[in-house]
Amino acid sequence: MSDPKTGSAKVEPLRKPRPCPECGRPSVRESYPFCSERCRNVDLSRWLNGSYAIPVSEDETKAGGDDQG
Ligand SMILES: [Zn+2]
Repeated sequence: MSDPKTGSAKVEPLRKPRPCPECGRPSVRESYPFCSERCRNVDLSRWLNGSYAIPVSEDETKAGGDDQG
């Protein structure tokens, strides 16, 4: 009796989940290869600005109420 199961019964996914190049979290289809549109914008803005060293969490620390002229 020969068992066909004995051997290589490894099932690998067609496409490995690629981590977000921005934060490292698992990417989603909506904003592949980023985890969210936020990260995608961050990466995009960096390219537009020409600098590749901008803090990610910035727009979250905005506290409206700063009027200047
Ligand atoms: Zn991300």
